[in-house]
Amino acid sequence: MANRTSWLFQTILAPWHDRRARSITDPVQRLRYLRKTMGTPEATSSGSYVYRKRLQQARWVLVLLLVAGALMTPRWLSTEVQAGSPRVLVVNGLDPKMPRETADEVQNIWMVESRAGEEWYSNGLRIDTNYVIANTPRKPVVVDRQSLKQKEFKGFAGIVFHTTESLIAPFEEGRNSTLRVATRGVLQFVQSQRCYHYVIDRFGRVHRVVKEEDTAWHSGESLWGDDESLYLGLNDTFLGIALESATKTGNDTADTVTPAQINAARLLTGLLRSRYRISPWNCVTHAQVSLNPAYFLIGLHIDFAANFPFAEIGLPDNYGRNYPSITEFGFSYNDVFLKATGTRMLTGLALSEDKLRRDAASKGLPLERHRAQLQEKYRSAMAALTVNTGAAEGKDKEK
Ligand SMILES: [Zn+2]
Repeated sequence: MANRTSWLFQTILAPWHDRRARSITDPVQRLRYLRKTMGTPEATSSGSYVYRKRLQQARWVLVLLLVAGALMTPRWLSTEVQAGSPRVLVVNGLDPKMPRETADEVQNIWMVESRAGEEWYSNGLRIDTNYVIANTPRKPVVVDRQSLKQKEFKGFAGIVFHTTESLIAPFEEGRNSTLRVATRGVLQFVQSQRCYHYVIDRFGRVHRVVKEEDTAWHSGESLWGDDESLYLGLNDTFLGIALESATKTGNDTADTVTPAQINAARLLTGLLRSRYRISPWNCVTHAQVSLNPAYFLIGLHIDFAANFPFAEIGLPDNYGRNYPSITEFGFSYNDVFLKATGTRMLTGLALSEDKLRRDAASKGLPLERHRAQLQEKYRSAMAALTVNTGAAEGKDKEK
C-alpha cells in the first residue's frame, strides 16, 4: 500500500504540484511550495528541520485515487516476470502516460551493415565511427543496495546524458560552415580527453568516440541506483552520451537541443537499451548523478539540471524519482544547485527529502543524526571499493 500511495503521489499529485510550482519564478520560493505540498522537511534559519504535514486536501484526493487504483492496476505495475516478455522491470513510480513498451520492455534493435566509418541499425540509426578511440578497460563497481557488497557485473547498467558546453552558434542555414567547424572542434576535444562514448552533433549525427568496451571519463564522482543495486562512479557502469549543447538552467525552456538531436538521441538510446538491456530508470542526466563528496552535496555538474526531453527520447521523467545520493547516503544540495534546477527536478529532490525524513522517523532518530550515519556509510563504502572516478588520471572533470 505504501508503494501504491507513493506511486499515486509521484505520478498524479506531483505533476499537478509541479505545474503550479512552475508559475513561481523564485527557485527558493518554488522549493518552499513543493516542500509544503509534499510534507517534506524545511530548513529554518537556525539550520534545524521542521516537518510540515501534507495538505489535508491532498490526503482526500489520495483516498479517492487509492480506491480508483485498486480497481485499475495496470499490468506494468506487476512485480512478476511474465512469460515471453523480453524483460519486465520491478519498478514503482512509473509515469502512466508512458507507452508501456518504453517502460518495461526493450525493443530488439540490430546492426544491418557496417563499413569503413559508419554503422547502420534496424531502427534507422546511423553511427559515424571516424573518431573512435580506445581508452582504459572498464572496471565496474556495482554493490547490492542493502548489503553494499560488491557484485559481479558486466555490460552497462545505464546512460548518463551530458551537454558539451561548447560554442553554440545560431542554428541557421547560413551558418552551416560555422556549425560544422564547431562540431569538428568538439569531436577533436572529446577524442583527446576520452570524455564520452557518444556525441550527437546539432544536425543529429551520432559519433562514437570512446569504444564501448572502455571507460569514458564522463561522470567523475557520481552515483545512481535502482531497486537492486547502487552504482558508484558511473564512468565504468554507464554509457556517456553528450549532446552538442549548452546548459540552460531553471525553468528556461528555450531550446537547448535541436529536433534532429532529440530524434538521434531516441534512436541511440533505443540501440543501447537493446544491446545492454538497460532499464529506462537508469537513463539519467549528469546533474542528477554528479556529486561533491567533500561537502556531501549533489550537483557538482549541472548539465541537464532542467529541461531534459525525457518523453521525446522515449523515457520516463526520471527527474521526479528519489535520488539515491540523498536517501541512501545523506547527500544534500545548496542554493546554487537549486537555482540551476527546474521544477521537475525540485519535485524529485523534495520527494527524496521526504523519504529521508520518514526513514529517520522509523529508526527513531533525529534527521541530522540519520543523515550523518548515512554519510559515514558512504565514506566506508568508498574506502572499501576501488571506484574509477578518473581522479588518478586527472580526468575527474569532463570539461
Ligand atoms: Zn556532464
